[in-house]
Amino acid sequence: MSNYFGEIFGGFQSLLVGLGITIKAFFDPVVTLQYPHESLKMTPRFRGHIELVGDDETGESKCIVCGMCQRNCPTGCITMAGEKPEGAKKKVLTSYVLNFTTCSLCGICVESCKFGAIAFSKDYNLASTNKNDFIFDLKKRLGEKS
Ligand code: SF4
Ligand code: SF4
Repeated sequence: MSNYFGEIFGGFQSLLVGLGITIKAFFDPVVTLQYPHESLKMTPRFRGHIELVGDDETGESKCIVCGMCQRNCPTGCITMAGEKPEGAKKKVLTSYVLNFTTCSLCGICVESCKFGAIAFSKDYNLASTNKNDFIFDLKKRLGEKS
């Protein structure tokens, strides 16, 4: 008989402990997000794929088409082109494509650029079963941002 009441008491005690933990967790700060409806804000040092940086005023790419990033990329995943419009003094960027499937995020391209024209993005929402989805037209992306 005493064992019977002991078991009831033990069950009730564990119920109270469980409830206490649940109530405590209820008031804890929320650390999860409603992904994919919400996105996490990445830390300043996070390295997403590279992206072109636009001029603060015009929004146009700051790239002067020197080609240093393309030449220094160890895996050759940058393909870019530019042209000099008639009468213009400088070249203008016409295309900048990143093959992200071979990018190791080493950062050499970003370090090579002395004009602050490329930077790491904070984009981490990348998932696809098609590798062509990782060929990024960075000039187009810059235009979509501005
Ligand atoms: S981060 Fe490295 S591998 Fe990726 S594009 Fe830049 S230089 Fe190439
Ligand atoms: S190093 Fe910078 S300025 Fe030169 S081509 Fe690359 S992004 Fe453009």
